[in-house]
Amino acid sequence: MACDIAILNGTVLPMGGRPDIESGVVTIRGNSITAVGDSATDVSDARKIIDARGGVVMPGFANSHTHVASNLLLRGLLEDVLLFEWLQTMWTLKRNFDHETLYWASLCGDLEMVKAGITSFNEHFDAYDVEPQMAALEEIPLRATLGYGFADRGLYAPRTDYSHRTMARFADIVSEHHDSRDGLLHIALSPHAVYSCGAEMWHEVRRLADSLGVSIHTHLSEGKQEVAYTTETYGMRPVQWLDSLGFLGPDVTAAHCSSLDERDIAILARTGTKVAHCPVSNAKLGSGTMPLRAVMAAGITVGLATDGPASHNSSDLFEEMKFAGLIHKTATADVEFLKIGEILEMSTAQGAIAMHRPDTGRLAVGAKADVIVVNLDTAHTQPVYDPRAALVYSSRADDVTHSIVNGKLLMENREVVGVDEERIRHKFHEAAHALKKCSIG
Ligand SMILES: [Zn+2]
Repeated sequence: MACDIAILNGTVLPMGGRPDIESGVVTIRGNSITAVGDSATDVSDARKIIDARGGVVMPGFANSHTHVASNLLLRGLLEDVLLFEWLQTMWTLKRNFDHETLYWASLCGDLEMVKAGITSFNEHFDAYDVEPQMAALEEIPLRATLGYGFADRGLYAPRTDYSHRTMARFADIVSEHHDSRDGLLHIALSPHAVYSCGAEMWHEVRRLADSLGVSIHTHLSEGKQEVAYTTETYGMRPVQWLDSLGFLGPDVTAAHCSSLDERDIAILARTGTKVAHCPVSNAKLGSGTMPLRAVMAAGITVGLATDGPASHNSSDLFEEMKFAGLIHKTATADVEFLKIGEILEMSTAQGAIAMHRPDTGRLAVGAKADVIVVNLDTAHTQPVYDPRAALVYSSRADDVTHSIVNGKLLMENREVVGVDEERIRHKFHEAAHALKKCSIG
């Protein structure tokens, strides 16, 4: 059968628990993978050949929790502070957000991700408009789940009306956009957090998710301050409070979970809640380290995620993978935890399941064709005894040479096809500096 793209000569990492193939072949037809095999795989009818010699062919990274659009405007704005002070300053800028600025932020963020090999992402909007990111994704069509943000108290009180208006028309939003653009675009519900949403809001989100069949994406148990808040307000820890509301379930992605006790872990396991693990952001904002070993032992699905560029400063899962390995070795005082294979699964196949996109994150016949090529023929990765070790501990985002999403070649030899990268960077720079000037001087 003729294929549209054949990728040859690289080491193929199918992920999803399947073994690597030296000098393997991956073929793509339409938006799906049609073959994953050895060098004998027939590619005689391929319309386009990509030579991956000296590199790795693997699923694109699934970034299971981020805030690209708004957070990119806050990258490097405020460093060396705790989470709640940081959130407060962010809102000074957020009050002045406009569509054009958000559009350039979204587009620059999508550009950064495609160049870093992230082919799918789970976006949590902090209760502001989604439309600019939808427009940006027409230019750089990554696989995206866009979670409409809701909140009604605390710092987020000014967004209460917006949240209720959006929930009231959510059925229309879903029928217009969910599973559109050949399946690339999904819509989700994103209540912000236990300290910014009241019980009624959690009940309404659960009702909408059940009736519309879309997933939920929220922040949960992100450090001691949040635990203190719900313990004082509701007499329970955050996970236990949401469980008491009947909110948790297999359709929920809970980001962070950096503060969990044994009972919390048992609840997440019982309800089938998925977790997006953001170790860089948690360390940077002093939010603690998730007890990952206990979480994994309980059978909970965990994806690796960057969180937004304000608290990570880059949309780079290579950095996240390396840091995950280091922080868990330190936290457990056990060099055998976390292993490189586990880290790679968390950023691909498990990450995709954690964000409710099980049709991506692995190279298998019938899976969506979200594929990247990573060059390992570099000074900083040589001599490459083990491609997996190179990827987790030596490779960089800039080593990604090709990104394919839904069967479409979005980046070829580091050139993003059909976009003016310099214009995007400069437009975003201008818009961001103008916003900062009018907000905080
Ligand atoms: Zn977040």
